[in-house]
Amino acid sequence: MKFQNIPPHINYGYVHDEDMRVLAIDIGGTKFTLGAFECGRLTLRESRITDRSGGPAWMFSQIERIFDEWRQKGFQPDSCGIGFGGPVHFSSQTVTLSTHVAGWAEYPLVENVKRLTGAPAIMDNDANVGALGEACHGAGRGADPLFYMTLSTGIGGGMVIDGRVYRGADSFAGEIGHLTIVPDGPDCLCGSRGCYERMCCGLWLERDYGKPAKELLLEPEFVRRYVVYLARGLKAALMLLNPARIVIGGGISKAGERLFVPLREELGRQMTSWSRARRTVVPAELGDDSVLYGALALAGTLQPSDLATTRVSQI
Ligand SMILES: [Zn+2]
Repeated sequence: MKFQNIPPHINYGYVHDEDMRVLAIDIGGTKFTLGAFECGRLTLRESRITDRSGGPAWMFSQIERIFDEWRQKGFQPDSCGIGFGGPVHFSSQTVTLSTHVAGWAEYPLVENVKRLTGAPAIMDNDANVGALGEACHGAGRGADPLFYMTLSTGIGGGMVIDGRVYRGADSFAGEIGHLTIVPDGPDCLCGSRGCYERMCCGLWLERDYGKPAKELLLEPEFVRRYVVYLARGLKAALMLLNPARIVIGGGISKAGERLFVPLREELGRQMTSWSRARRTVVPAELGDDSVLYGALALAGTLQPSDLATTRVSQI
C-alpha cells in the first residue's frame, strides 16, 4: 500500500518485502502498542495503558499475552521491530534506561522478544523509529533530511539523513529533549535544568499547570507562551540540520493548527534573519502509529542472514 509512495530518488535501504510478516512493538511511558503487519498492511493492533510501577517484567508479560493470542489466530512473524521509549544503545541492541519507568536498564528486551516469537528482532529508541515511520510512510515522505520530534509524555528527536536514521557516534544523536531552553530553569529528571522536555512535555505541563496538555492547549494565552519555548528547540534543529521538513508527532501534536499556526509564526520571529533555511513544520500523518510503521521499516533492515541464523538456531 503505502510502500509505493516512497519517492524513487531517496534510497531508504529498507527491504519492503510485502510478503514479510512483521511484529511491531511500541513501548511508551504512557501506553504501549503491538501491531501485526501482513502484506504491508496493519492487520492486528492492540494498545494498552502502561503500568509504570510494573517495570519491564510486567510489560513483557503483557507483550507475551497479546502475542500468544495472535499466534493462536495464525500470526507468526518473520521479523520484529521495536521502538522503546527511552535511550537505546543501538549497536549493542540494549536499553540504556527509561527516564520515566524504573528497572529497564540493561533489561534483555530484544533477546526476550526473539525467544518469544522465534524470529529476529531489532530495536531503537521510539523517536528514531517514529522518524523512520514518518519518513517512509507518513508526513516526511520525500523530505530529506527529515527532523522528527515526538511531543508527548517526554520529548524525543530523530533525524533521517540520506534515507537512514542518523544515530551519531554512540547512538545518542537527536536527543533534543535535553537541550537547555531556559538556563537555570526548573530541575529536569535528567539532573540538568530548564531542558526542552522540562519546559514543554506533557508530563511536566500537567505537573506545572495542574491540567493535562490537551486542556491547556485550548487556551490561546497559554499557547502563545508555550510556543516561545517550543520554537527555541525547533530553531536549534533548523540551524544545525537545515532539514527539508520538521514533522511533529506525539499526543500534543494532535492539537493541530491551533498549535501549529502560532508555532510557525513564533519560529519565524526567532530564526536568524539571514537564514533562508526552510521552516516547514507539519504534524505527523500516522497519528498514534508512527512508531509501528517505523518498526516495520526497521525490521526491513534485518539481513536475510539474520533471519536464517535465527531459524537455524531454533531447529
Ligand atoms: Zn533534561
